[in-house]
Amino acid sequence: MDFDALFSEQLDALKAEGNYRYFAELERQCGKFPRAANHHADGVRDVTVWCSNDYLGMGQHPKVIAAMCEAVERCGTGAGGTRNISGTNHDHLLLERELADLHGKEAALLFTSGYVSNWAALSTLGSRLKDCIILSDAGNHASMIEGIRHSRAHKVIWKHNDVADLEEKLAACPANAPKIVAFESVYSMDGDVAPIREIVEVAEKYGAMTYLDEVHAVGLYGPRGGGISERDGIADRITLIEGTLGKAFGVVGGYITGSHALCDFIRSFASGFIFTTALPPAVAAAARASIRHLKESDSERLRHQQQVARLRAALDRAGIPHMRNPSHIVPVMIKDPVKTRMLANYLMDEWGIYVQPINYPTVPKGTERLRFTPSPLHSDEDIERLVAALSHLWKQCAVAHAVA
Ligand code: PMP
Repeated sequence: MDFDALFSEQLDALKAEGNYRYFAELERQCGKFPRAANHHADGVRDVTVWCSNDYLGMGQHPKVIAAMCEAVERCGTGAGGTRNISGTNHDHLLLERELADLHGKEAALLFTSGYVSNWAALSTLGSRLKDCIILSDAGNHASMIEGIRHSRAHKVIWKHNDVADLEEKLAACPANAPKIVAFESVYSMDGDVAPIREIVEVAEKYGAMTYLDEVHAVGLYGPRGGGISERDGIADRITLIEGTLGKAFGVVGGYITGSHALCDFIRSFASGFIFTTALPPAVAAAARASIRHLKESDSERLRHQQQVARLRAALDRAGIPHMRNPSHIVPVMIKDPVKTRMLANYLMDEWGIYVQPINYPTVPKGTERLRFTPSPLHSDEDIERLVAALSHLWKQCAVAHAVA
């Protein structure tokens, strides 16, 4: 059988609908973020990155780099095993204690990524709690959806951020079945924020546990970077907080935090924890340095919010529509996959501005967009240049539209 022909058939279909995924071959340059080198067919070019999830540039912070280098010198590279078979290093436990403290919880558990943490925790909870029902926000991330699916627990989807709909669906569940309300704080593609307090109150009313993904909020919100739940003073009422070390903390890895019993339960039963090599100790040390820095220092968060506000104001002045939301994520809707790619190519080729087109299945079809993520390290000039480029594009599109 010609398997390559079978593969190509589906890949060609993706290309025809404009949803084939291309990526830029970047070479990050230490100390120069948001500048990076872009390797392409004709050579290498310096670009300004406008779509990184290293939201605060912590991936190049001197303290984080020093911690990683020190730990590599001290421990070497890999962890040498799964967490249960020789792979648990002192640095992993220090990091888990740091994370528990960050969210005010008894315990924390590390995973190799945020994706794995959601997948492993939800699939374990949903499969091992007898008759469990998982109530999942309609906007939840693929990692939560896959974890729930794998658990084979009964799943009920509630309307995105709609507390009345959640309550209606909770009320319809059997009173004595274990229930989990799974949702996010900052939604990554629209940048909207969940009404966490109201959700927690409804969940408590029906005796449900709360599972909150703070992947796009940890490090960025709250006086110590504990996320929206810390900012809103509600973290202590959330059963499980999940996060990543790969975005605002600038490294890689994922985690859950909660009670001792909860973390011990996941540790003891989750295949995504048990059967995979532990994170390198140097990654744990770097992540811990990043978290510790952001617990103490507010300046990155303040400057981040400032640059987000500057970008939004500049877009408004230029008449470029962008999605209104209360977070740091600035989506500009294009609503067509081919046009989104064309605009992104133009920004890259003509202006050296890199923003990845966001297409299906990351977002629903018809909601394709450019998703800008300003950082504290983008200068005012970077913002002006981006908005100048977009204004130029908008005028050209208007002209093209008028001619057509
Ligand atoms: N949850 C959400 C909401 C996400 O957007 C992502 C990644 N984009 C993840 C979890 C997975 O995190 P990680 O990148 O650390 O695997």
